[in-house]
Amino acid sequence: GTPTALMVGSGMGAEKGILIRNGEAIQTFKEVTTIAFDKTGTITKGKPEVTDLVMIDGVEEKEFLYYAGTIEKGSEHPLAHAIVEKAKDEEINLGEVIDFNAIVGMGVVGKIDGEEVFVGNRKLMKKNNIAYESYEEELIRLEEEAKTAMMLAKEGQLLGIVAVADPIKEDSAQAIAALENMGIKTAMITGDNKRTAAAIGKKVGISHVIAEVLPDGKVEEVIRLQEKYGTVAMVGDGINDAPALKQANVGIAIGTGTDIAIEAADVTLVRGELSAIISAVKLSKAIFRKIR
Ligand code: ADP
Ligand code: MG
Repeated sequence: GTPTALMVGSGMGAEKGILIRNGEAIQTFKEVTTIAFDKTGTITKGKPEVTDLVMIDGVEEKEFLYYAGTIEKGSEHPLAHAIVEKAKDEEINLGEVIDFNAIVGMGVVGKIDGEEVFVGNRKLMKKNNIAYESYEEELIRLEEEAKTAMMLAKEGQLLGIVAVADPIKEDSAQAIAALENMGIKTAMITGDNKRTAAAIGKKVGISHVIAEVLPDGKVEEVIRLQEKYGTVAMVGDGINDAPALKQANVGIAIGTGTDIAIEAADVTLVRGELSAIISAVKLSKAIFRKIR
């Protein structure tokens, strides 16, 4: 009967690196029409590194990295870690930041040595009336290379751009192609900017890219996909993915991700490889063929 099949399913899942927290999920898997993926830490490794520093005339890289590294010490974001690591690699002694604030979907602000510093995207610069328009072409070039470009401003003046790239997991493209071949639609939901998201989407073969989504907005995007396509699975690793994992018909967490995402999900990909999802779909179909 069904319970036995589900137990067998759990055992087989574990073998493939899939941990099933909710038995019903295995049943739902075979009905999934669409799988939505978070980007950072899900499609990509979540270990971004600084690739480019573009300085405004007269600005020293050391000076730039001092301010950028100092302010990003206060942030938990993977982008922040990349910048702090770069500053450490360059053996820069970081300073102290006061009045630190992380602004969701935009970046960070704070005071360093009494001066007001911002690091973040266009939205953050616009919000603070910092002129960056003459660097728009440079930003676009970096973003088309699938990099996330951030700007640093101090006392209302732009000092430069730091770009970060997050390598794509080895099996992401292959897993997405296999899912598409099985007739499952794939989508990516990310807070990153449209151009970077599109460049990564293209590299891994995801056709439906939903970018510049604020953390709270991921749930709404899942609901929208459910209204359009029916049964939807969501894959994510971050704290801000948890509500979307709960909303999805099947929530899939990355085993190397945050506990909050794992607790919100129905299944966990233990090794974080997206190709395990293919095994889960096949398993679901095989088990429920046997039951009927
Ligand atoms: P995601 O998790 O998909 O990367 P987020 O909502 O966390 O999306 O971030 C969206 C954007 O906000 C980033 O691409 C970046 O431009 C900006 N941002 C967020 N956190 C930081 C930070 N600590 N420093 C600089 N920029 C940041
Ligand atoms: Mg993530």
